[in-house]
Amino acid sequence: MRENFLPFSKPSISEAEIEGVARVLRSGWITTGPKTAEFEESFSRYCGARGSVALCSATAGMHLLLKALGIGPGDEVITPSMTWVSTVNMIVLCGATPVFADIDRHNLMVTAASIEPCITPRTRLIVPVHFAGAAADMDPIRRLCADRSITLVEDAAHAAGTEYKGEKIGASGTAIFSFHPIKNITTGEGGMFCSDDAGLLDAIRRLKFHGLGVDAYDRRSQGRSPQAEVLEPGFKYNLTDIAAVLGLGQLARLDAFIARRAALAARYRELLAEVEEIAPLDVPAYAMRHAWHLFIVRLDTERAGMSRNAFMDELKKKNIGTGIHFLAAHTQKYYRESRPELLGTLPHTEWNSARICSLPLFPAMTEEDVDDVVQAVKEVLKK
Ligand SMILES: *Cc1c(COP(=O)(O)O)cnc(C)c1O
Repeated sequence: MRENFLPFSKPSISEAEIEGVARVLRSGWITTGPKTAEFEESFSRYCGARGSVALCSATAGMHLLLKALGIGPGDEVITPSMTWVSTVNMIVLCGATPVFADIDRHNLMVTAASIEPCITPRTRLIVPVHFAGAAADMDPIRRLCADRSITLVEDAAHAAGTEYKGEKIGASGTAIFSFHPIKNITTGEGGMFCSDDAGLLDAIRRLKFHGLGVDAYDRRSQGRSPQAEVLEPGFKYNLTDIAAVLGLGQLARLDAFIARRAALAARYRELLAEVEEIAPLDVPAYAMRHAWHLFIVRLDTERAGMSRNAFMDELKKKNIGTGIHFLAAHTQKYYRESRPELLGTLPHTEWNSARICSLPLFPAMTEEDVDDVVQAVKEVLKK
């Protein structure tokens, strides 16, 4: 058994990045400023996005989006229940109704076919999730939305560096990225709102900082114009320069991180092929670059004779950390109690919610770490 605990995720922060953060701390300007502007420009360049707005989280980005679109009571937003609850929470907090589309059983992503039956005259917005670093099949979803003039926004929290049919996520349409510490790049906490819609970018920029007509930092005035006025009530969701400088360092290493993650994932897939109780997610067949944010497997609970939670507990005793991405939103206490009619209506989501488990995957892992995980999995399954 391993001597030390292997967490399921761990950020890779370099000494140069730490030094960069220290330089910002010494510089006299630590909140939104020149580093944030540079991070936004670099991120746009990396993805091919028309514009990017740095935020304190992806959740903030979703909140601002719903506000910018004026989504509220009587409106419906289609999204998977197999997602991080933040999207669903924001929809509910805006007074709108989340409508859950079921997912592909083997890649955990919504499809045009699963979304279409959820569309009603009240549908205002559709939010597919690029899951685990793979890309959702966007072409049919884009057609579906365009035909009906419904706004489409991609939850790209797992998809920094992901490509769909030769194009980075974020290059077209609107996508929201997360830089939470488990994501492919981190700023401690943070997010990025990318869009090809200049009007929407303006609205997000305004709403993220009190509804002032200017950013927290204006290059000309080397700060914020003291005369700036409130144009509409806004929030306080800007990113600090302390975080942005870390993001700049991380972004420069993103492609190397993804290459490392892909190599580790390939090793997992090879070694786990012989463990019949364990099924990794399918990699979609359409052209795509997988960013390997997570390595998710499904436990065949019947064959293994144990629950997913027991499986995770046993792995933990063997010093292997795991995660669940995600417990379906509609099965969690608040949603289970407020929307009991939804239980049983999303078969692929519910099936996976009870069986998925994320195995350790982060760039600093070694091949031996992967071997330790697979060895522990086999021991837990008594193979
Ligand atoms: C992490 C995550 C979010 C939220 O990101 P934050 O930056 O933590 O707000 C949203 N959606 C999905 C699918 C996520 O995994």
